[in-house]
Amino acid sequence: MATVASAPTIDPKVSAFVARKQKMLINGKWVDAASGKTFATYNPATGEVLAQVAEGDREDINRAVRAARAAFESGPWSKMPPAVRGKLIWKLADLIEKHLEEFAQLESLDNGKPLGIARIADVPLTVEHMRYYAGWATKIEGNTIPLILAPPNKFLAYTVREPVGVVGQIIPWNFPLLMAAWKLGPSLAAGCTSVLKPAEQTPLTALRLGELIQEAGFPDGVVNIVPGFGETAGAALAAHPDVDKVAFTGSTEVGRLIVQAAAGNLKKVSLELGGKSPNVIFADADIESAIPGAASAIFFNHGQCCCAGSRLYVEKPIFDKVVDGVSHSAEQIKVKPGFEPDSDMGPLVSQEQLNRVCGYLESGLKEGAKAVTGGKRHGDKGYFVKPTVLVNTNETMKVVREEIFGPVVTAIPFSDPSEIVGKANDTTYGLAAGVWSRDIKKAHTVAAKLRAGTVWINCYNVFDPAMPFGGYKESGWGREMGHEVLEHYTEVKSICSAL
Ligand code: ADP
Repeated sequence: MATVASAPTIDPKVSAFVARKQKMLINGKWVDAASGKTFATYNPATGEVLAQVAEGDREDINRAVRAARAAFESGPWSKMPPAVRGKLIWKLADLIEKHLEEFAQLESLDNGKPLGIARIADVPLTVEHMRYYAGWATKIEGNTIPLILAPPNKFLAYTVREPVGVVGQIIPWNFPLLMAAWKLGPSLAAGCTSVLKPAEQTPLTALRLGELIQEAGFPDGVVNIVPGFGETAGAALAAHPDVDKVAFTGSTEVGRLIVQAAAGNLKKVSLELGGKSPNVIFADADIESAIPGAASAIFFNHGQCCCAGSRLYVEKPIFDKVVDGVSHSAEQIKVKPGFEPDSDMGPLVSQEQLNRVCGYLESGLKEGAKAVTGGKRHGDKGYFVKPTVLVNTNETMKVVREEIFGPVVTAIPFSDPSEIVGKANDTTYGLAAGVWSRDIKKAHTVAAKLRAGTVWINCYNVFDPAMPFGGYKESGWGREMGHEVLEHYTEVKSICSAL
């Protein structure tokens, strides 16, 4: 593995991990694919093969679902008190923290993101996410219900929340470890068992997480991890008749396929999908914070965030200043392999994403947009794109309407503040939005009218395990995080007893 050997600061444990063929975790054992097939994962900074991974398919999904069902119905997990579940989740968080550097390096190599970002964002957020849900394991409660039609004291009615059962969890490649935690934290707290399918581009940290799940002492079959492709392993999991719920994060296009696949046994579905989020800067904003805020809203994680602030609306009097400021910020970003110590932005995750983002840039420029900065690929090796600010765009262009999932922002001026809510909401998506203003009343009035699951005021991309996240409209069904997500991992049972 030339790439890894030549990286100067690589942890020997990470080199050893990527050098060995990665298997899948089914019923507490690391096994090969039933077909014996493997697939390669690539280092996006070089395009070279990083590791070989067992390629899960329908048969492996069947094996994993059988294991998850057995663990749910009859294993030690099904009898475990919530406090013990909570302690196991907390122990897992401690183990992830102990191996923080190893996870950060694996994530950077597999996904391309700067090592420094993985160290301060992806891995610590994963740890805190797990700890938050460790706390919830003992706090999932029902209610007592005063019946309104029966005479008082004749009945006792109450609800209990029970785990939904076997859960299929299909996750994307933009925050591979953190997305695994978003799914596993609440499902474990609720007492479910899982089959997790990481994205084919970035399976490595989920597989290392599997090793720590075993080390923490979770019973066999509680978490099964099956790497593989979406059309095969993912589709089989979404359609599986013995899966009670599927939780998906990814594109809106695949979200629709998941809904169709889930229809067979009417499994529960939660979806966290794409976005084309508006970021609105009013003329009365604190421009010193709005400019870097708008830049990081789009450029964080190379724009590979479903909530990226990709439509920047700026009130006319400050439009030029904001565009200059955001473009200047873009030009300061050091676009380098994620493993280089001063990298601010690594490569996109894959050749496919590089083609997709460059395709959007070409289409925008052809339709008359102007790149104030960027506008093309960066270098000719690896999947790097220059951070880009497009102006002269309008709402009919693909670059304004469609999710690019790259470091590309379209800046559009507006003159009439009363029209901005209509423009901001003029999208099929509804994941997130930003509002920048010193006028508290205006900011909250606009926030109330935005059709989006999260609205950030005078900030952007602030995430917290306690704050629910998810989409209106075609950005999804249900919410991740907070106590809201626990509703998706539990069923409510009403119990009514005659007294
Ligand atoms: P992207 O297009 O950005 O790669 P996707 O939505 O295709 O994002 O992928 C997110 C996750 O969905 C990945 O784990 C991928 O393997 C999976 N996936 C892709 N297609 C399907 C499908 N037809 N059924 C189930 N899962 C799928």
